[in-house]
Amino acid sequence: MKWEENVRKVVPYVPGEQPQEKDVIKLNTNECPYPPSPMVEKAIKAMNYEELRLYPEFPEETPLAAQLAEYHHVKKSQIFIGVGSDDVLSMAFLTFFNSDRPVFFPDITYSFYDVWADIYRIPYEVKPLDGAFHIRKEDYIGKNCGGVIFPNPNAPTGVLMENTDIEEIIKANSDVVVIIDEAYIDFGGTSCLPLLEKYDNLLVVRTFSKSRAMAGGRIGYAVGNEKLIQYLNDVKYSVNSYTMNRPALQLGVEAVRDEAYFQEICGKMIATRERSERELAALGFTFPKSYGNFIFASHEKVTAQEIFEKLKERRIYVRHWNKARIDNYLRITIGTDEQMDALFAALREIV
Ligand code: PMP
Repeated sequence: MKWEENVRKVVPYVPGEQPQEKDVIKLNTNECPYPPSPMVEKAIKAMNYEELRLYPEFPEETPLAAQLAEYHHVKKSQIFIGVGSDDVLSMAFLTFFNSDRPVFFPDITYSFYDVWADIYRIPYEVKPLDGAFHIRKEDYIGKNCGGVIFPNPNAPTGVLMENTDIEEIIKANSDVVVIIDEAYIDFGGTSCLPLLEKYDNLLVVRTFSKSRAMAGGRIGYAVGNEKLIQYLNDVKYSVNSYTMNRPALQLGVEAVRDEAYFQEICGKMIATRERSERELAALGFTFPKSYGNFIFASHEKVTAQEIFEKLKERRIYVRHWNKARIDNYLRITIGTDEQMDALFAALREIV
């Protein structure tokens, strides 16, 4: 077709499968196995449907922005809210990676980064992780790049970088923005948010999808210097002003207010992760120490592809990528203890 040459062509991000059957064990998209806080449930039930008639409020003016600001001890004007952290990250790429120099991120990382770089025509270079899947901080220092982004802990490896190393990277790149994607920070890592007091080129991105059990609510946010957030809002309002729906804005507040529940489910997931590491090691798997709600594991004898398929036959879904360096690894999301026991029973038959 003649018009095709004028079409913007992209190779889209491929999310994990969302099987429709009910009786599957879903350990493939790092969702939380527990429901959201009971306060979220109460708020849904009390919601006034009539309000859907109205456009939502601007996110930065909502109680959710105030709640997050209070939670992180920052000003409301330092919070940017979006439709999941994917929306926040996408807007951040568009806003801050606007140099002719390449943006740097690891070769093994969240596989959406290169997709956003491609769609927005942002030049980028990937920096290989070392043999133990650690980010090499030297690769990001003194290299004159157009920006830096990586998750901490990294995904899908679960490897955590120390904040002292992150600080060196931020300091060395003061002419560009450094984005730290803290999607998984609540599972045992220490946030780099305190560095915001010292550096105005840092943007920290968070999500409600993992530790707050609200992947379906689609809430993400960024915390940064006021000016950075202003630039981000300018771009966001130039693409779509009403991105967040009313219910999400209301329910997010309840999730943040229920600190006790948040601590409880994070603690449970960490305990299950630690037990799972012991079980997997006993079954002959190796993996880097994980700080996420997942384990990135490889078996000494059986290929990841074979394990992936055999688990799927048993209706257990995990994540596998046919990608160089990681094609013999499986990313296994931490489920409930019962779900993990079913996984271990299946693995005992397979490996
Ligand atoms: N960052 C990382 C590292 C992730 O793994 C994910 C989950 N796919 C996201 C961001 C996006 O999550 P969400 O859009 O649900 O907030």
